[in-house]
Amino acid sequence: MTDRNPPTSNRQLLAILGIFVASGCLLLWGSLQLVDGLILLIPPELEQRLGALVIPAYERLAESSPAQDTLNQLLNRLETKLPKQQNIDRNYRLIYIPDDTVNALALPGDTIIVYRGLIKQVESENELMMILGHELGHFAHRDHLRGIGRGLALQFVVAVFAGDTGGLANAAAAIASNLSTAQFSRSQEAQADEFGLQLLVSHYGHAAGAADFFQRLAAQKSSLDIALLSTHPAPGDRSLTLTQTIAQRHYPIQARSPLPATLKGDR
Ligand SMILES: [Zn+2]
Repeated sequence: MTDRNPPTSNRQLLAILGIFVASGCLLLWGSLQLVDGLILLIPPELEQRLGALVIPAYERLAESSPAQDTLNQLLNRLETKLPKQQNIDRNYRLIYIPDDTVNALALPGDTIIVYRGLIKQVESENELMMILGHELGHFAHRDHLRGIGRGLALQFVVAVFAGDTGGLANAAAAIASNLSTAQFSRSQEAQADEFGLQLLVSHYGHAAGAADFFQRLAAQKSSLDIALLSTHPAPGDRSLTLTQTIAQRHYPIQARSPLPATLKGDR
């Protein structure tokens, strides 16, 4: 009679273990969701502080130039077309880095980085505006904050609240190096393209040039080392989706505007 209940206790033990593992997983999943949610709640002031730590590393590579002024004028024109709620308290600016990297990125603190390598690839003002619109889309959806990564974002927020300046500097350095290679998901990229397309159409009144850049990249990707390709979905797919959207919505196509002379001269 000594072992009357052992099978039951084993089952109970297994059940308890199961519940334990399941709640552990749920807790982990929940905290990841929470951190994702927190990233989206980072207030603009805190984002500006993060920007102030990250941006100087890029500013050192730039110099004020007519090309940078022109790019900022283009960005300002596009900004006036932003949906109202996304234009409050934002003041986007562009840092132009004279380097052959073919890339553009969105940094915390409303800053867009554009490299000369990208400008060399661009053939009309319209396709350049599409790229800038795409970056503004990443800001609108706060992808640039999600791109930091949950661990680093948490580290940064904790350091801010703890007033830990050493920890803050470490987090900022890690964030800066993370952001230049940050990969967003396919759906984040598709949404940013969609956002850029809408801005392009509300700025020019037509959609010409939206897919040009991606079409050209798709044609030459084997011969060029293009940073943008390692952080973005295949350009052929993006160009196809854009072309389909333009057709579905019956967006008109008109003549493209030439690239401003200051940008042409810098290539
Ligand atoms: Zn992107």
